[in-house]
Amino acid sequence: MTSEARAGTSRPPQVLRGMRDFLPQQMLLRQEIIERFQTVFERYGFEPIDTPLLEYYEVLAGKYGEEGEKLMYHFQDHGGREVGLRYDLTVPLARFVAAHRHELTFPFKRYHIGPVFRAERPQRGRYRQFWQCDVDTVGTRSMLADAEVVSIWIEALASVNLPNVVIQLNHRQLLQALATHAGVAAEQALTVYRAIDKLEKIGPEGVREEMLRHGIAEAAAQAVLDLVQLRGEPGPVLAEVRARLTGDPQAEAAVSDLLELLRYLDLLGVDPRRYTLNLALARGLDYYTGPVFEAVVEEPAIGSLGGAGRYDGLIGMFLGEEIPATGGSLGLERIVEVVQELQLLHVPTTVSQALVTVFDDQHWGVALRLTQQLRAGGINAEVYLGERRDLRRQIQYADRKGIPVVLFCGPDELARGMVTVRELTTGIQHQVPEAELAATLRRLLAARPQ
Ligand code: AMP
Repeated sequence: MTSEARAGTSRPPQVLRGMRDFLPQQMLLRQEIIERFQTVFERYGFEPIDTPLLEYYEVLAGKYGEEGEKLMYHFQDHGGREVGLRYDLTVPLARFVAAHRHELTFPFKRYHIGPVFRAERPQRGRYRQFWQCDVDTVGTRSMLADAEVVSIWIEALASVNLPNVVIQLNHRQLLQALATHAGVAAEQALTVYRAIDKLEKIGPEGVREEMLRHGIAEAAAQAVLDLVQLRGEPGPVLAEVRARLTGDPQAEAAVSDLLELLRYLDLLGVDPRRYTLNLALARGLDYYTGPVFEAVVEEPAIGSLGGAGRYDGLIGMFLGEEIPATGGSLGLERIVEVVQELQLLHVPTTVSQALVTVFDDQHWGVALRLTQQLRAGGINAEVYLGERRDLRRQIQYADRKGIPVVLFCGPDELARGMVTVRELTTGIQHQVPEAELAATLRRLLAARPQ
């Protein structure tokens, strides 16, 4: 211990960059959002699973592309094994399916909500430990599985009152076909995807410059830009793409996937204002093979709220046999930030619904009896635990925490066989017989404005 630490003047211990503590109030909002997502996921028949935070490095290696590889937390454990912290929930799912395929019922629909780790440069909405909320369907090529993800996202985001969310759709093979059609060499295709993915951020001129800088020919760069900037209703845009890329089998397959996906969205009754085609959407991760989607909000501009897509080859990397799969990942942190900034959800500041005050040491019996009675009646109740117990201090405690109801059971109340129940926000008091306490509180709490 340094002399500074001994003297008590050292700085408080820091958390690692890009990692955060959460106070109870923040946790309550996060939990509320997670619960709402879970409800929507389960409504579509998705079931929860969990996987370890730490995986063998070889499970994670080679799945996320060059960029991902650089950002992965990777080290040797105490036994000298190469291990990595999970980078997303999709690759662990692929490993999980390979490991448990005989215990699962296919098509297998799972959801998974938990932390993942990436050594990124921290900034707003970008952390090194963050939570993802994933839904995936494994074992079907049906575009209905992809359409369900879009529909679930729209419902999940609506369940936390997020306005103006739009799901952008594209197809990896369509991108490939566009690049080939434009005359881009196969080995330069990834460079082109990366450049056009930034179209919204840096504009067509920026994208052109980036392509030229990477050695793409002027004419090819222009042809790519012409194609990816097609805008309008998804149906007519796809018809136009089909006409321009006529005869290209990859483009044909991609367009018919997207048309099928759109048809299912229509059959599911998904509001067409909530999704759009964006031919410039590439999505960073390497493992996507089919439709890709991204959820964005117009305001505040916080980047993508979720990324999704079909990855028919990933499970095969573990199993040697291809099992098709599709799914999406909503990023919790950015959603929490938008919900907080726009005050979209009103979550209580404390879980406590009632504080039972203690008059003095002679009144522990009644105070604890009442507290236990409330708990048994389904009310979150606490008894004041501080050592200095004047009533003013106890009320202040409830007030600071935002506990809505405070109970008094002193000598006056005992003499009358009643309990005094005070609603803190209004100051209104009720005299309630002990036997009716839980029922009365339930009624009072239910009547409070949300
Ligand atoms: P990805 O797995 O890269 O497709 O990302 C899926 C979603 O996770 C994104 O849309 C973001 O909402 C969220 N996300 C990705 N990286 C971060 C990060 N470093 N910090 C917070 N959220 C992130």
